[in-house]
Amino acid sequence: MTRISDPSLLVRPELRALGAYHLDLSPSRHKLDQNEVPWDLPRRFKVEMTERLLAADWARYPDFHADESRRALGRLHGHPFEGVLVGNGSNELLSVSLMALTPPGGEVLGAEPSFGLYRSFVLKAAGVPCFLPPRPDLKIPINELETEIECDPRRPLLLCTPNNPTGDAVPVERVERLLERLEAPLLLDNAYGEFCQYDYRPLLARYPHLILFRTFSKAWSLAGMRLGYLLADPRLVTELIKVKLPYNLGHASVIAGQVALAAEEEARRRVRLLVARRPQWAAMLEEAGFEVFPSEANFLLVRCSPPEKAREVQRTLEERGIRVRDVSGYPGLAGCLRVSVGTGASLRAVRAVLRGEALPASSVEIGRVSCRERV
Ligand code: PMP
Repeated sequence: MTRISDPSLLVRPELRALGAYHLDLSPSRHKLDQNEVPWDLPRRFKVEMTERLLAADWARYPDFHADESRRALGRLHGHPFEGVLVGNGSNELLSVSLMALTPPGGEVLGAEPSFGLYRSFVLKAAGVPCFLPPRPDLKIPINELETEIECDPRRPLLLCTPNNPTGDAVPVERVERLLERLEAPLLLDNAYGEFCQYDYRPLLARYPHLILFRTFSKAWSLAGMRLGYLLADPRLVTELIKVKLPYNLGHASVIAGQVALAAEEEARRRVRLLVARRPQWAAMLEEAGFEVFPSEANFLLVRCSPPEKAREVQRTLEERGIRVRDVSGYPGLAGCLRVSVGTGASLRAVRAVLRGEALPASSVEIGRVSCRERV
């Protein structure tokens, strides 16, 4: 007879205390809740990917660290391939890096509100999140972070820029000032980097303690394939590779990444279109009476007044087949919703519902459209 009555109690208490990550993943006509781009990879690329996958030997393990993908990404960014690491989404690499870089019981600096999974990554790495509270203007608290670093420069810093869910981004010079002061790694989550005016990549050559995290889940239309990467100093990557599990990428994600990279022009077009659409979405949401925060990403944060209205707006949109993200429970974000920049049809649908009008026929999306529409 076992003396363990409840095996869940075997889990570390700080991990048991974490909330489970949950989202409604059921289909939605206008899916604007996960910061994805609205367009799937064009069919010809998917066919090519499938053919290459058929030609692969599934009985064999893939490459340990997907070196071919690392080389391709090294070429794309003008960064040595030994300084590239690929993973099962950038989530995996954030988690692996924190595991490797967090001193047991040590603090990891960050700021609220930000990506919801950071806290759990730090806790899983046996670290202690020291996340600064939200500023009233919801901007990334860059001065406050600088002060924290000056107090103790030895704590790793987790910085999301452009920040999810606010869309705010830190100018390159301000990141550089942090790097000048920091005597610990700066983990810079740049998942929305392609949509942003600031390019942090040139800092990599000068600051060996900078790690830049990127993903194929947004600009590259590959969220369903799970592929992300980091760029860092090759000496650091040599160590991180030991922490990451071998064979972390299967044939499917490796090939999908290669095909997506070959379709680089498509990705650039998607980004151009969404960046051009961003002000149109902001204007539409402002017109509907929301406070709209400036965004450097492919989504917008809006605040309802009074704050209680957020749930109601979200429910009304959901009833009409439009899914946005209720982020009102995040620190500092009472009354806030996050909306992905989507297709023209989605924009018209959101506008109609917010005006209390009938949905325009053209806004009824059947399946997902391809990236053929023009600005
Ligand atoms: N960082 C941020 C800021 C994100 O918003 C996301 C996904 N929403 C990720 C990382 C994880 O992306 P991936 O799909 O590459 O794991």
